[in-house]
Amino acid sequence: MHRFFLQYVAILFVVAMAFSGCTSKLSAPKQPDLNAVVKPASLPTVPPEPAYDPTAFAPLHPRALSSRVTVLMFHDVVTERGKGGVYFDSTVDEFKEILDFFEEQGAHYLSLKELHEHLVTGKEVPERSVVLTFDDNYQGFYDNAWPILKSKSIPSGMFVHTDFVGNKSGSHPKMSWDQLKELDKSGLVEIGGHTCSHPGDLKSLPIDVQERELTESKSLLEEQLGHPVPFLAYPVGSADSKTIELTKSLGYTMAFTMKNGPAEESPGVLEIQRTIQTKYRDAFEQSLDRAKNVPAAVVTTDINNAPITLTSGEFDGISLVFVSGGVPVSVRDPDGGRKSVGTYVEKHSGMAGMNGTFFVNAALRGTDNAMIGPFKSQNEGVFFVDRDARRLEKLIGRPLIAWNETQISVAPFSSEALNSEDGVRELLPEFTDCFLAGAWIVHNGQARSRSEISTAAAGDFNDPRKRAFFGWKSDGTLVYGATQNVITTSAMARGAAAAGLQEAFLMDSGFSTSIVFNGKILATGHSSESLPSREVPHALVIKGELGQPIDVESKKAFDDAKSSTEIASETRGEEVVKTKKRRRSRRR
Ligand SMILES: [Zn+2]
Repeated sequence: MHRFFLQYVAILFVVAMAFSGCTSKLSAPKQPDLNAVVKPASLPTVPPEPAYDPTAFAPLHPRALSSRVTVLMFHDVVTERGKGGVYFDSTVDEFKEILDFFEEQGAHYLSLKELHEHLVTGKEVPERSVVLTFDDNYQGFYDNAWPILKSKSIPSGMFVHTDFVGNKSGSHPKMSWDQLKELDKSGLVEIGGHTCSHPGDLKSLPIDVQERELTESKSLLEEQLGHPVPFLAYPVGSADSKTIELTKSLGYTMAFTMKNGPAEESPGVLEIQRTIQTKYRDAFEQSLDRAKNVPAAVVTTDINNAPITLTSGEFDGISLVFVSGGVPVSVRDPDGGRKSVGTYVEKHSGMAGMNGTFFVNAALRGTDNAMIGPFKSQNEGVFFVDRDARRLEKLIGRPLIAWNETQISVAPFSSEALNSEDGVRELLPEFTDCFLAGAWIVHNGQARSRSEISTAAAGDFNDPRKRAFFGWKSDGTLVYGATQNVITTSAMARGAAAAGLQEAFLMDSGFSTSIVFNGKILATGHSSESLPSREVPHALVIKGELGQPIDVESKKAFDDAKSSTEIASETRGEEVVKTKKRRRSRRR
């Protein structure tokens, strides 16, 4: 109690400070610099990690994204299903059954604060973590659930609609303030807001009514309990972007909806997903599955700036060609158009290069070169935010790769955590480049299976194409590779793992596939070996010292390859011819 009170005073100050600076940080992109590659300037040093403060708003942290915590939502806990019972009540027996299941499964219970700290600071939580939440302040919680939770020291959250506190009428009586204070003092139950009157559809109410519901209930709870109440559950899960913005402005730092799914896959920290208690088994198993299929949240490696070499050969039966070493510089065509990889390499004084990541319109003559996901290319030095809300939903979990001259980091994408420059800085403080790759295909030296890759990849990821990948070996040497044949992504993953990749990611593939080394084309998405691939809006230019081909086969591949620049104009010609042919055939 005393501890809470001191915290409250300190926290009021912090909250006041936080409010003055909580405007959006997404600035409009500046005009791209048309000059050559910009060297990373001396960037400001990162301030020390601030201490965790449950009342200060912070978005989802990229380092939280590898875990998958199950949050369950309960309502009343009754001795038996009587008159006025509803499907979302639990009987005591059902409640015990759920706790038994979690005990058998070796689950670990988190408090709301522990969940919040994990989500916004990236603090690790044990595998198999579970959070129990209860809505609507039922007397049945106090009478039937609390004695069990107390005896097992299991933490939980209770969301209270303040107009009903102490209301003993009807078949679902509510707890009194004295009971709520007792729960609060135990330290095991955290009380959260749930509005005053429990509107049937909060988001549809006029904004001033929503504000009154959210503020008055919060103030009353804080007055009664004597400490801040920063967490909330929207009644019936009803919230839209306006409600969420309001919730944030009123000092809530974590809020729950009723959309199902693991907490870390929520759209944001003010829209944390929960699952109804009747589906506890599915929800928990889904979280375990998803945690297994999402590689470790963040992988960071020191880049081994080794001499740039070429390798061509068979790896686990897969024909690959790859360049190893150097440090990549990502470039985007500053005119918003496309260029061949050879042109990018030449223009930016690289030794080698490969095609970059996915872009919106992959058609040969498509004009929309917008990149899929956020990115920052070094030649432009500007962080581009992906603002397509519908696309962003589909990008959750794909690998976001960021690097500087010495380190490279990867994390599964979350729009709240990584669709901003500040967010990516949390991943790698002084990053100079970043982009969203297509899929995470090799992790810890193991090829991921088709089903593992499919949890965060485009639907057509496994269609046979000439495929391209980017990644690194265990010594930190970066690798830029492509298949020599038309194959599936999961087959390429096996080849990449056999070639010694520790981590690898899918790059744009098919016609875009392109590897250029020392002025020659070593891999192309075209059917003809000698043609450079389709021009692309984004590429990786590899800088560093050139090494020698390491074996006879690789040397032969190099000697046989065609120049990467002299036939660029021919390719353009071929593309035009192809398009004309297609048009003609359509007319028929
Ligand atoms: Zn409710």
